[in-house]
Amino acid sequence: MSNKSVKRQKTRKTLRLDRAVRFVWQAGPGWSIASLALVVIQGVLPLLSLYLMKLIVDAVTYSLGAPDKAVAFKHVALLIGFAAGAALLNSLCQLIANLVKEAQTLAVTDHMYGILHAKSIEVDLEYYENPKYFDTLHRAQQEGPYRPTRIVNDLVQLGQGGISLMAMAGLLISFHWGMAVLLIGAAVPGVFVRLKYSEKLFNWQKGRTQSERKSGYFNWLLTGDQHAKEIRLFDLGELFKHRFGELRKTLRGERLGITRKRSFAEFLAQTGGTIAVFASFALIAYRTVQGAITLGGMVMYFGAFQKAMGYLRGMLGAIADLYENNLYLSNLYEFLDLEPKVKEPLHPVSVPRPMRKGISFEHVSFTYPGSDKEVLEDVSLSVEPGEVVALVGENGSGKTTFIKLLCRLYDPVEGTITLDGIDLRQFRMSDFRREIGVIFQDYARYHLTARENIWLGDTNLTPGHQRIAETARYTGVDDLIMRLPKGYDTPLGKWFEDGEELSLGEWQKIALTRAFLRDARIMVLDEPTSSLDAKTEYGVFKKFGQLLNGRSAILISHRFSTVRMADTIYVFHEGRVIESGAHEELVRQGGKYALLFERQARYYT
Ligand code: ADP
Repeated sequence: MSNKSVKRQKTRKTLRLDRAVRFVWQAGPGWSIASLALVVIQGVLPLLSLYLMKLIVDAVTYSLGAPDKAVAFKHVALLIGFAAGAALLNSLCQLIANLVKEAQTLAVTDHMYGILHAKSIEVDLEYYENPKYFDTLHRAQQEGPYRPTRIVNDLVQLGQGGISLMAMAGLLISFHWGMAVLLIGAAVPGVFVRLKYSEKLFNWQKGRTQSERKSGYFNWLLTGDQHAKEIRLFDLGELFKHRFGELRKTLRGERLGITRKRSFAEFLAQTGGTIAVFASFALIAYRTVQGAITLGGMVMYFGAFQKAMGYLRGMLGAIADLYENNLYLSNLYEFLDLEPKVKEPLHPVSVPRPMRKGISFEHVSFTYPGSDKEVLEDVSLSVEPGEVVALVGENGSGKTTFIKLLCRLYDPVEGTITLDGIDLRQFRMSDFRREIGVIFQDYARYHLTARENIWLGDTNLTPGHQRIAETARYTGVDDLIMRLPKGYDTPLGKWFEDGEELSLGEWQKIALTRAFLRDARIMVLDEPTSSLDAKTEYGVFKKFGQLLNGRSAILISHRFSTVRMADTIYVFHEGRVIESGAHEELVRQGGKYALLFERQARYYT
């Protein structure tokens, strides 16, 4: 590694620490100040206790030969009283410190969740659709919430240990400088072992995210509600259980291998430490026998050395821990530093209302990041205000991708998409998206009340707004909701208490209502009726004109009964638009559309 990159890495590590501390501070400045004050008090208290212990031993030694034992003992008792006071104060501080720590940990964890959630919403859809980034997301979510608190606990331990250690070291050096050498010699090897193995474990874990995620996936399959039916019917339980077990076995074996090696190295390091401790005891005892220090002095120095060793070990351990936590936090920083590729404009233009010319795709080509395959190739088409456009084509021909570009979930690689001649990239994303009501093939099912499920389509309305029920009546979902035990206030789905499960078709109608609630100019319906039976679908589309109410619509459907209502139909084939026109016209042309239409008609008759 070059000098420059070593330097860069070092600066990055310091910065990381800053960032963790900043998170903790932001989560609760009050808690941070309180724990800082406690650090100082708890750092100094041990020296006071030790000194009192020396005074007690010396006072007892003195009273052995004192003429008036009662007076001498009074002095001893007074000192013991002080020592008890110091011990009580220490316990009190410990108690408060624990409380502060708990409060701070909770505050930081929630704060970190806030940061994680904000970023999870902000990042491009790409990060959810690409396994590589999904790993980053997974690692960040795993480590993000609790590592910053651990960093702060390390810093607290470091600060407190540092203060106490300085006090003890001063005392010991006043006895003999060699004690300082023994002290450091005893503690340092253990830390090197920790540092080395922290990094090993971290690298191992980073390399194993895929397997961890995969085992998590099998766990989810086995314990979740979504697959419970299939798992029973296809008898997949044992298979998934076995796969989970195999993955865990490998992970466990590898991890234990590292821990085993670490334990052995730690044992070697500790042996050195123990020898140093006993060498120092011998030195102190020797000086006492020689009469250089009093018995009280001996007790104090013994205590000081033992304590100092403890502090030093604790501190060095905290440094190693800091290092480790920092490494893990790098996962979070990696995630937080992801730059959205679909960007907000610097100088946003307001979205024209009403829309006059409509939406236009001009020579749009698109390739998914990390792939070479051109999914859309030179697509040009336009949707005028009030026009109903249908996209048809075989699976994988690029229709959903077209919609994703239209909604600015991705930006085109080539070409432009405009609204009234203005590039979509010039609008603020939230402004533009307000103009679109969309229902995707994999529409969302919110385990919230029926009312909320619809209301989420336009949260600018109040949750009790009359338009919710009105729209539900148009889409024909009102009857269904009124039959539920608590009507609009019935929780949907089975995740929470009193929830009512709906059929797929019913869920889809709810999602459709949600999309139509939005006061949007363009409705995008990707397979909006795939789970509905033909009769219900007919019902929905009979009212389609009313539902659209002058809005434009882009719909993707495999059902020609639906498609044929569109003003213009675009036929997609391998990412290109190969035919366009009204139903009759396309059938007459006898091309791809006619072929697809004929095939379906034959299938149904
Ligand atoms: P359609 O909606 O017509 O069925 P899609 O637009 O979903 O087609 O898919 C078009 C092509 O893009 C398919 O070949 C699919 O494999 C590919 N594709 C879809 N989503 C992604 C993605 N997130 N990353 C990479 N390729 C994708």
